[in-house]
Amino acid sequence: GYSRRGARNNFVAPFRSNGSNTGHMTSRNSGKGDDALDDSTKRCLEILCGPDGELPEKLRNLEPRLIEHVSNEIMDRDPNVRWADIAGLDHAKKCVTEMVIWPLLRPDIFKGCRSPGRGLLLFGPPGTGKTMIGKAIAGEAKATFFYISASSLTSKWIGEGEKLVRALFGVASCRQPAVIFVDEIDSLLSQRKSEGEHESSRRLKTQFLIEMEGFDSGSEQILLIGATNRPQELDEAARRRLTKRLYIPLPSSEARAWIIRRILEKDGLFDLSEEEIDAICKLTEGYSGSDMNNLVKDASLGPLRDATKGVNIANLKNEDMRSVTLQDFENALQEVRPSVSSNELGTYEEWNKQFGSLA
Ligand code: ADP
Repeated sequence: GYSRRGARNNFVAPFRSNGSNTGHMTSRNSGKGDDALDDSTKRCLEILCGPDGELPEKLRNLEPRLIEHVSNEIMDRDPNVRWADIAGLDHAKKCVTEMVIWPLLRPDIFKGCRSPGRGLLLFGPPGTGKTMIGKAIAGEAKATFFYISASSLTSKWIGEGEKLVRALFGVASCRQPAVIFVDEIDSLLSQRKSEGEHESSRRLKTQFLIEMEGFDSGSEQILLIGATNRPQELDEAARRRLTKRLYIPLPSSEARAWIIRRILEKDGLFDLSEEEIDAICKLTEGYSGSDMNNLVKDASLGPLRDATKGVNIANLKNEDMRSVTLQDFENALQEVRPSVSSNELGTYEEWNKQFGSLA
């Protein structure tokens, strides 16, 4: 852990505030002091400093550029998704509210035998709203949202993944309550190992599990959400730490209707009868939320294509365009196909029966 490392190496922070109200940083040690840091890095570190102007313990032995990357690229100051933006999934919303939002809002009640699990797994086909749920949790619980794709840790941050993971959990612990969303968590915590597994990815996995263990036992207000389309690749250690596992299925017919209506109404393009909506819902069995999004976008080009027949688009008036029709959707259905196959669905349902939280 941090403290042991700190004690052994007699670590000296590479930068330090002079403690004045301006929060201005001054060089403490010669050589690679903050003169080497550019202004944006300094500003970012200043924000994380406590009222005494000191950088919190957990961040002191981390490289400033990694802290800056976490603060600027991974931390989302305003995850503007609310429950009301998410179609369907009432069961998941209810579970998540009780299991994670209430504990984040009222830690004083959720302690002792009520203390919550710190790990939540959202699994299911791609494009069904897992990321939206993560953001909505942060929004509803007034928590800081951190988003990272696990595959970027192994591809983009080769050899540095471990350090970045430490920076991520370090910054999150300074920004509590916090929600850390790890997309494609299977690529980090998969059970495929030994032969093919590189030493570096094994270390990354270990570091990640250590960090999770760290806040799991303590009083920290940090929630880890893992999302995956391949839950069957998670090993036992990963499952043990992700205590709640919620299946996020394809949208129901009602949810699909809701998505169509919402997107078109927002742009004032909605003019379909109940029967027409029903017909579209029947034709879109098996479409994910994100497929529906693409479908509506494609359909909404229909009126534009018609209106520009023989007319220069430069002279086109908005009011000359008709609303989106069933025929537009029927045409779009030829272009936008469902992205999830039915045998994939079977795999999710099996895994859900075996490992899912059916609460
Ligand atoms: P996942 O994380 O499950 O792969 P996302 O949450 O990133 O999927 O969803 C991708 C996009 O698809 C969203 O930005 C949204 O436009 C649309 N979408 C998916 N599921 C839903 C849903 N349940 N309600 C509304 N929109 C959805």
